[in-house]
Amino acid sequence: MRAVRHTAYHTFPTLKEVEKPTPGPGEVLLKVAGAGLCHSDVAIFHEFDEGLNPQMDPEFTLGHENSGWVEELGPGVDGLEIGSAHLVYGPVGCGHCRACTRGQDTYCENATEMPYAGIGLGRDGGVAEYVVVPARNLIPLGDADPIKAAPLSDAGLTPYHAIKLALPHLNGGGKYALVVGLGGLGLVGVQILKALTGATIIATDMKEEAMAEAEKLGAITVPGGEGQVERIREITGGKGVDAAFDFVGVGATVQTAMASAARQSRVTIVGIGNLSPYEWAFLTTPYEAELVNTYWGTVEELHEVVDMYKAGQITPQVTTYSLDEALDAYQLLVEGKIAGRAVVVPHGEK
Ligand code: NAD
Ligand code: ZN
Ligand code: ZN
Repeated sequence: MRAVRHTAYHTFPTLKEVEKPTPGPGEVLLKVAGAGLCHSDVAIFHEFDEGLNPQMDPEFTLGHENSGWVEELGPGVDGLEIGSAHLVYGPVGCGHCRACTRGQDTYCENATEMPYAGIGLGRDGGVAEYVVVPARNLIPLGDADPIKAAPLSDAGLTPYHAIKLALPHLNGGGKYALVVGLGGLGLVGVQILKALTGATIIATDMKEEAMAEAEKLGAITVPGGEGQVERIREITGGKGVDAAFDFVGVGATVQTAMASAARQSRVTIVGIGNLSPYEWAFLTTPYEAELVNTYWGTVEELHEVVDMYKAGQITPQVTTYSLDEALDAYQLLVEGKIAGRAVVVPHGEK
């Protein structure tokens, strides 16, 4: 079968012929319906240095945001109908530590002893015709479209987890949320904020089209550049935002988020753009403003994200690409030319 492989650090991926995998005990072979291309893949093949994360050493198939149809069950797996559509929870921890048993494989206590971090993250992922996944990582989609659903497993789950933890700050009247970066994650983030809170949503991106999309979803947009923080504060009546979500995470956006924060607010950094330290100072920081980072989410939260999708509360903006076009789509992602999410459909659109 064909698969898009991460072959070496600081190297653009390759479309290759590899052996079709066989599911082991507790695993399932999926025929891939959709594989979303996440900006973290760009970090993996272009930015990460060898030694930073040995669990993600090449070579492996990319794609940690997947959906598919059950093709074959491994030994010991039953109760899954052949042909049924599922979304895949990407992180794979040891399965038995405290974090894994509460469905939070992202914070597995034995992560450093694991051979990989997740599906498409050291272990073969879904930008391929088929992918093998642990049966416990499958979320049933029922009749819902698995191609449009694929981004939910990361571009949906990651903002959902970040927003859910910030809900105490947005619970009540007159609340404001800031969303920085309106790509795959950010545009779903705006929809989740709209569905879960009554907060006024302020959003920003470098791209006009991305801001126009956020406006359609009900956000007020403020372009970057000089005066941006003042404009955001003005919208909030001077106090600043109660929660900020930075889906870029470079020095400038972390600064913007912190400078826009209200007292007793929460600033969540989701984007991994900032590989250099942020300078924190007591007198310029609003009192009790929390600054946190979050990583992906839990398997239970992914069930909740799928419930929201089925209820029509979130619809990822998807452009599909065939497996032959997957490398072109990655190139467009590198160049910042993808609107919403690029999803590779190895077996076409059904
Ligand atoms: P994307 O490429 O789809 O979108 C990024 C958006 O940010 C684009 O619209 C771009 O125009 C905008 N942008 C870039 N620089 C900007 C700046 N300086 N100011 C304002 N806007 C800017 O990316 P994505 O797939 O949505 O991922 C977003 C980030 O989140 C990436 O850093 C990715 O690696 C990270 N990520 C983190 C997690 C996690 O668990 N923490 C999970 C998934 C992705
Ligand atoms: Zn990702
Ligand atoms: Zn574990």
